[in-house]
Amino acid sequence: MTDRMTTSAGAPIPDNQNSETAGPRGPVLLQDYQLIEKLAHQNRERIPERVVHAKGWGAHGVLKITGDISRYTKAKALQPGAETPMLARFSTVAGELGAADAERDVRGFALKFYTPEGNWDLVGNNTPVFFVRDPLKFPDFIHTQKRHPKTNMRSPTAMWDFWSLSPESLHQVTILMSDRGIPVDPTHMNGYGSHTYSFWNDAGERYWVKFHFKTEQGHRHFTNEEADQVIGKTRESYQEALYGKIDRGEFPRWKVQVQIMPELDAEKTSYNPFDLTKVWPHGEYPPIDIGVLELNRNPENYFAEIENAAFSPSNIVPGIGFSPDKMLQARIFSYADAHRHRLGTHYETIPVNQPKCPVHHYHRDGQMNVFGGVKTGNPDAYYEPNSFNGPKEDKSAQEPPLRLSGDATRYNHRDGNDDYGQVTALFNLFDDGQKNRLFANLAAAMSGIPEEIAERQLAHFKRVHPDYEAGVRKARATLTGREPAISVTPNTPQEAAE
Ligand code: NDP
Repeated sequence: MTDRMTTSAGAPIPDNQNSETAGPRGPVLLQDYQLIEKLAHQNRERIPERVVHAKGWGAHGVLKITGDISRYTKAKALQPGAETPMLARFSTVAGELGAADAERDVRGFALKFYTPEGNWDLVGNNTPVFFVRDPLKFPDFIHTQKRHPKTNMRSPTAMWDFWSLSPESLHQVTILMSDRGIPVDPTHMNGYGSHTYSFWNDAGERYWVKFHFKTEQGHRHFTNEEADQVIGKTRESYQEALYGKIDRGEFPRWKVQVQIMPELDAEKTSYNPFDLTKVWPHGEYPPIDIGVLELNRNPENYFAEIENAAFSPSNIVPGIGFSPDKMLQARIFSYADAHRHRLGTHYETIPVNQPKCPVHHYHRDGQMNVFGGVKTGNPDAYYEPNSFNGPKEDKSAQEPPLRLSGDATRYNHRDGNDDYGQVTALFNLFDDGQKNRLFANLAAAMSGIPEEIAERQLAHFKRVHPDYEAGVRKARATLTGREPAISVTPNTPQEAAE
């Protein structure tokens, strides 16, 4: 038998077709509370969209560990044979909730593992590096990707002005403008934890670690022209692909790998291993296979399980720790804070964010404290320490001390950093076709920006490789129908600025 429709207070609804009016021609009566309730609910259906990574696609799955890294980490979810339920959310960075899926942008690759010792979140991207290494620059960078305050349009001038004044962005810009800048859907791209994290073991030894998720579906990407055609037909191509594949039982998988660096090596590497604009070369720190990630269940309700999902790099578990990465530390604050704002103080009691292990804490009250903010099992134990058998700290979860040295000051994050060498290594990996598409994509993206900004950026390309600058210069000329100008690009951005 069909269930009886009720009000949200449980009373039966006698009529859900006709509002209550004074006579058949109206007007409606204020006492038609269910009409008011229905309209009021509709007005409240949206929550603040994420400032970054607003448009997303997600699914549930499992992490299976097949390798043995128990000598590096005590994390239960990473022990041989462990199977951990998880949630993934992929996203574009800059577009709003209604943006088209197949746009050229970095993709978020956010993972939540429901481990026996609490939720562990890895909030990465489909690229191993990022545009900036100092979090003080993050809000400015994001402003250049979003809408201009006056025109309310995206501004290539702002993007290239910022990038050309921030050479540490060159590595990420090159990946973004390469073939990998528009994956055909989330299953055909890699994921990277991007930040350096740490592992620690029972003996209290620390290792630095990078996480990699290699697509088993193979890399597949759209050119700009292909993406334009897709967007012309559907703005939801990623949602359709991810949902459709899982619905058909074609479960996407990623090979899970880690790179591990002994703690003291961090003082020896020529590059700063905690710099988010750098990778660890595979030749120096070979990726180790540790398992498989599989997505195998679509959400029952997109809003409840994906829009409400709150991923934050602050969520770590025993055996996994942070690192001195400045960007990581800023995100530890800002991601959790975004969710407090977006979802409310008690966002971790929303079912999709709830740990699947016992939770005991002394936080209390506040908006939406519907599941009992104090989780101690005893009404008298609402502070700590107490004499009422309330939950206590567990020293075994204490990670080894982070060895740090240095005076507190505002160090120039550009001093001693090579922003070009790793980009040269990447450029040298590209074949001629990849290079030509990179040049054309850059020329298109730079179209219409002021010449002085373009020249400043070309100076950076030249420092990566003379062919890089020449290729972009030629592609720009082809785009505008002009002959390429003879290169007068100065050798350094400083010279360009002079
Ligand atoms: P390797 O030759 O050992 O590694 C090359 C890496 O580059 C592989 O992980 C490969 O990823 C990736 N790659 C290949 N083609 C592209 C592409 N078109 N766009 C983006 N990445 C690509 O060299 P190194 O480890 O010394 O790295 C050289 C450069 O490769 C780096 O400077 C960096 O730009 C890039 N890279 C390095 C990564 C790392 O963790 N070391 C990770 C990703 C990129 P895959 O195996 O998935 O195809």
